[in-house]
Order: sequence, then C-alpha cells, then structure tokens
Amino acid sequence: MSAGLDLATLELILDSVSEFAHRELPDSVLIDLDERDEFPADVVHKMCSSELGVQLLFIDEEYGGMGGGTFDIYRVCERMARIDVGVATAVLATFLGSDPISVGGSPEQKKEWMSRIAEEGLLMAYGATEPEAGSDLAALKTVAVPVVDDGTVVGYRITGRKQWISNGSVADLYSILANAPGGPTWFVLDRDAEGFTQGNPENKHGIRLSNTAALFLDDVPVGTDRLVGDVEGQGLVQAQQVFGYTRLMVAAFGLGAGWAALDRAIPYSAERMQAGGPLSEKQGYTHKLIVPHAIHLEAARAYIEETAEHIDGDEGLFNTEGAVAKYMATEAGNAAADAAIQALGGYGYTHEYMVEKIKRDVRITTIYEGTSEIMEMTIGRDRWQEHLKTSGGYYHEQAGALEALHGTDPAVGAGVAALAHHALAEVMEACRAGRLTRNQHVLLRLGEWVAWTECAAAFSRRAASAAAGRLPEKADRRFDPATLAAMSRVFAREAALKVTTDGLRWVFGASPELDPGLERRVGLAEVLAAQRGLVGDMDAAAAAIYGRTS
Ligand SMILES: Cc1cc2nc3c(=O)[nH]c(=O)nc-3n(C[C@H](O)[C@H](O)[C@H](O)COP(=O)(O)OP(=O)(O)OC[C@H]3O[C@@H](n4cnc5c(N)ncnc54)[C@H](O)[C@@H]3O)c2cc1C
Repeated sequence: MSAGLDLATLELILDSVSEFAHRELPDSVLIDLDERDEFPADVVHKMCSSELGVQLLFIDEEYGGMGGGTFDIYRVCERMARIDVGVATAVLATFLGSDPISVGGSPEQKKEWMSRIAEEGLLMAYGATEPEAGSDLAALKTVAVPVVDDGTVVGYRITGRKQWISNGSVADLYSILANAPGGPTWFVLDRDAEGFTQGNPENKHGIRLSNTAALFLDDVPVGTDRLVGDVEGQGLVQAQQVFGYTRLMVAAFGLGAGWAALDRAIPYSAERMQAGGPLSEKQGYTHKLIVPHAIHLEAARAYIEETAEHIDGDEGLFNTEGAVAKYMATEAGNAAADAAIQALGGYGYTHEYMVEKIKRDVRITTIYEGTSEIMEMTIGRDRWQEHLKTSGGYYHEQAGALEALHGTDPAVGAGVAALAHHALAEVMEACRAGRLTRNQHVLLRLGEWVAWTECAAAFSRRAASAAAGRLPEKADRRFDPATLAAMSRVFAREAALKVTTDGLRWVFGASPELDPGLERRVGLAEVLAAQRGLVGDMDAAAAAIYGRTS
C-alpha cells in the first residue's frame, strides 16, 4: 500500500461520506430499509459512482483511482460503519472482490478490471466461502476443470456452490475461488456467465441493508484470461497477502459501529433524569455501560492506527497485527453496542432508537473475514512461535521497551503494560514447560491475552505520542492527551489483570500439578497493587466523554 492521500483530501472524503449519509440515509430511511430487509441498490451505486466515488479510494492512481493508503481506508471504513455496517459491507465486498486482482492479477487484468471498477463503479463480490468450507477454506469443493485443445489449456469449466456471499445477488463481477489442478485459484466471472446463477438474499439477524446470497456454478465456462495472475494454485497466497489490511477494514467497522452506539447513549444519558439527576452523573451507570466500552474501543483504535502506519510504511504484511486489530475492535464494538441498549433502558430495546439495529449489525464483524476464534488461533499460534524462537524472551524484551517509555512518560500506563508483558511471557513459558498448548483452548486463550497485552502497549505508545504532539497527522483526535493517558492506564490495568488471573486459571486448570511459584513469577501481587487509582482514572475518562471539566 502507498502512503496514500494528503490530509485535506482525506478530510474532504470523510466529510463527503457524512454529508451523503445525512442526505440519503437518515435514521428513518435506515429503520425502514432494515425492517423491509432491503438492499438500497440506488444508494450503493451512488456511493460507487461519480456522485461519491468511494471505491476510488482503494484503486491505484494508474487505474483511475485515488490510491488511498491503509490509514485512509481505516478512517473511511470507520466513518461508513458509523452510518450503517450493511452499506459499508457492500463497499467492502467490492474491495475484497478486487483484492485478488490487485495483488495477484497480471498487468492486463489489473488495467482492465481496476479501471472498470473506477470508471463504471462496478460492484464486486468475493466468492470464497462454501457450505462446507468456511473458516477452513482449504476444504473448498468448487472445481475448475481445464478445457484442453491440442494439448493446450484454453479455458476452464467451474462447478460448485458458494455460501454467504456479500453482494451475491447484485454484483456485476465476481471473484470465485476454485480448485484447479494446480490448487486453489481465483477466477473472475461476469454476472451473466452461462451456468452461473445467484440465490435469493438471505434473511439475516443484522446488516439487513447488505445483500448476502449463495452462488451456484454449473459447468461455467471461463477463458484463461479470467484466471487471476495466469498461474494456477496462487489463490490462498493471494488471499493471505491482503489479510493485514482487509482485517483492519473490518476492525474499523467494529470501531465505527461501537462508537455509533455509544454516541447515541452518551447524549441520551446526559438528558435522561432518574433519581433526581441525569444518568450521566451516576457512576454505577457510566463506569459500567459507557466508560469501559469507550476505553476498549480507543485501545483498539491505537492498535489499528499503529498497524495501518506499519502497512503504509511497506514494512511487511502484518497479518497477525491485522488479526489482533480485528479481534479487539470487533469484540469491543459488539460489547459497546450491547451496553448501549442497556444504557437506553426500554427505549434501547425499540427500533426507533437505533441502538438495537447497530447491535444486530455489528455482530457480523466478529464472524466474517475470520471469526474471533480463528483470530485467537492465528494470534496464539503466531506469537507462540515467537516465544519459542526467542527462548521465552519475546515479551520480556517488549516489556523492557515499555519500562523505558514509563521512565520518560510515567503517566501513559506503560509501566503496567510492561507488567502485562512480563506476565504473558511467564504464562507462555509455563505453557511450554507443561506442554499445555496441546489443549486447543489454552492456545486460543493465549491468543486473547496476546491481543490485550499488545493493545495495552500500543495504547500507551499512542498516549505518549499524543502528549508529545506526535500523533500521525491523519490520526483521530477525539480525546485530548490527558484523557488518552487516563484511558490507557485503565486499559493496561485490565490487560495485566486478565493475563495474570486468567493465565493462572488456565495454566492451573490444564496442569496435572500446581506450580506454586507461578503466582509470584507472573507478578500477581504487583498487578493487583497497580489497580490503585483505577476509579479516579475512570472518573477522568467519564468527565472527558461527557465534556465536563474535571
Ligand atoms: C452476512 C455474511 C456475509 C459474508 N460475506 C462473505 C463474502 O462476501 N465472501 C465470502 O467468501 N464469505 C462471506 N461470508 C462467510 C464468512 O466469512 C464465514 O461465515 C466465516 O468465515 C465463518 O465460516 P462458517 O460460517 O463456515 O463457520 P465455521 O467455520 O463452521 O465456524 C463455526 C464456528 O466454529 C468456530 N470454529 C471454526 N473452526 C474452528 C477451529 N478450527 N477451532 C475452533 N473453533 C472453530 C468458528 O469460530 C465459529 O464460531 C459471510 C458471512 C456472513 C454471515
């Protein structure tokens, strides 16, 4: 990815998206479309036409796009998800559908299809999942049988079935993953290809404004020019090459939807009087239903922004980091939306107040583009390898960097984040010594603790950057440096507590014998002592969220 747009252009796009939504998708229209379970074809086409042109963001300039970078895409995805995750999904599907072409296509294929998406606003669909191949894509059954003429492959015939495909019955162009003799391979199909039919839209729990359908392929003929990259067997590699930033996009959906829900609960609670005062002044309300969720979302944002910067800096693929970002942001967004229903009481449970729709919509983000459990597994496995490769030094070393940060910036929570890192290293080492990752549950829990721990580090670095006036210029600036520091301290305490107490629980739970020294090695006493000041920091976060001067 490139470094992307300049700040002024990004801000213009963000404003245009908000204005477009204000005009075309006010609450009343969203509620109506949701109730009628209707894909707003005209709105999505306008978004992807010269009227808004949001698809241009992810197309390179040489093909008529704007060449947005990962950071730009995160900011725009968050903004779209604040409006409606279903509509955002329609845009995402075109992006995902064109991904195999943009990473693996031949120069001619890129020129043809990327230019057409830019100019004609074609909608795409990404056809990977099958009835029996979801998380485990390698189990796919769709086949591409070569058509051979005079000893030369002149085309393929594709047969199979795809399931849960976004834009499935409305796309113009489809990327289809099929097993060719050389292995899983992407093909590009036109909507009206012979033998290719699209199912009826699914009746879904949420994102009812998004079209999701099955695809049926019955001996569909395609030319060799439709094989992405002209070489069979590259399909899974091409899919993996973009996980870093496609997962960041879905992470941004979780962030946007979570904040959309809180941003309805916050003003509501400032107005709603109960027991002689507004709910926003009741600590038992704010410190359960608002503040922790705002903090979890901002911790995820810190990780998203850091990862987006790395990807834009061409420093690698960052697939594990993409998984951490997706896991943390979508779980936080889902929990925030659920809390927002509670925060609005009976009103929250009705359609009119929107939070129940946001809750239903955001739910998909923990499922598609890799479920939360698959994220836990990916993260757990990848960092487990780092632990082994460094003989247990991986997280101790990072703790050292955080201790140094704490030395220069004692207010940003880096010292407690360091405790979480030391604890994680010790828990991993106990797992290695006891061979505990043979229990899949332990491996996935490790993935969870890694995600929390790494987010705590990213949050404290972000708070330090904010304090020094060094946030990236395109960074979100909702909270001032002092609030970010208070939020980071709260998050670091929670992460450290999670790693130590859950770590002890599952290590003890999976080991035949108790290791009496582990409690001391993970630093449980220090982590408990570090909880001092927690309530005061949450008070400070509440004051900032509600715009009260503390
Ligand atoms: C609304 C919607 C839109 C979608 N859009 C698209 C799209 O555009 N293109 C596309 O290709 N796909 C799309 N999908 C499919 C989506 O990516 C899959 O649903 C998802 O990857 C999970 O696969 P699955 O549904 O087969 O569930 P499964 O893989 O069967 O998983 C079921 C449960 O088991 C867990 N699980 C799975 N494997 C393991 C394991 N090894 N260990 C432990 N737990 C495990 C999962 O976390 C999950 O909780 C969409 C799905 C939905 C619902």
